[in-house]
Amino acid sequence: MTQTDVTARARAASVPAQPSVVTARAWLQAPPAASGVLRVRPLPSEATASYVQRLATAYRLALPQLLDGAGITLTGYGTPPTAELILTARAARHVAALARIPLPHLRHALPHLALLDDAHDTETAAARWKRLEAGQQPVRACTRCTRHRSHNATDTAWVHRPRHRLVCPRHQQAAPDPRLTSTVRTRAVPELVAAHHAHQRLRRHPRTLTAWTAARAITTRWYDHQQHLTHRWRQRLTRLIADSPHLVTTGSASPALLARDLVTYPETVALARTLAVLQNPPHRTTDDALSLIAHRLGLPHLASNANDPLWAFLTHTRH
Ligand SMILES: [Zn+2]
Repeated sequence: MTQTDVTARARAASVPAQPSVVTARAWLQAPPAASGVLRVRPLPSEATASYVQRLATAYRLALPQLLDGAGITLTGYGTPPTAELILTARAARHVAALARIPLPHLRHALPHLALLDDAHDTETAAARWKRLEAGQQPVRACTRCTRHRSHNATDTAWVHRPRHRLVCPRHQQAAPDPRLTSTVRTRAVPELVAAHHAHQRLRRHPRTLTAWTAARAITTRWYDHQQHLTHRWRQRLTRLIADSPHLVTTGSASPALLARDLVTYPETVALARTLAVLQNPPHRTTDDALSLIAHRLGLPHLASNANDPLWAFLTHTRH
């Protein structure tokens, strides 16, 4: 696609297809107090269903009413985080027009809208619910960030969170698992905010993705098999539960599992940063690397052990 095509598409997308029909129909159904200019800003990486639900809440409508008002045909039933709302390109234009947000901005924020193909924009404005597998489900967004972007109408939103946005450093909340219907407060574990900032710095490193993927696999395995950092991680989990008792009562999984990514986060970031540096150039012996990593993780020692995933990673990348 040429630059001209891109610009033309962006320009076309920012003009609502049928502004008078869309906005008039929606406002006809909205109560007078809610009418007028209601710009509901999307959260970064927000699920489409979450955004449309917040938009409906702002207009004091149910989601199906809002879509009907915007001339969008809805099929199926669902709710976040177990289902996602799939919009046709034309439906996305209608939502953008109603939300007073240029479509390119909306696509930038909502990862599932970004996948739409404008070539099929001749189709009708339609939406359908799609069930999501556990690994694809969004997590609860920071309640205070959500409230701020929802005109105080709601604190509930769901995001397809990128790996570097586990913790809201400003409001000290996190949702490490889609099964958590409330966020976890992290104020009792200040090292999580420090890890968040370290993670942002890590993103500038060219090998960040490989290093992060390896580090997360390694700390997850250590956690599940209770290796190396078990004592520290248990203490951290206890502090998180004391501040967020719903971790215990969520029921669908143990708190140790629900909070796993959060409990291991500081060490995952520290390990990823060390692995990113170690790979360039691979001049150290495996034992040198192990002692450097032990130091960075605040451990007295990490023994060479062929069954340890870290040892396997280090010896694999050296050859
Ligand atoms: Zn926040």
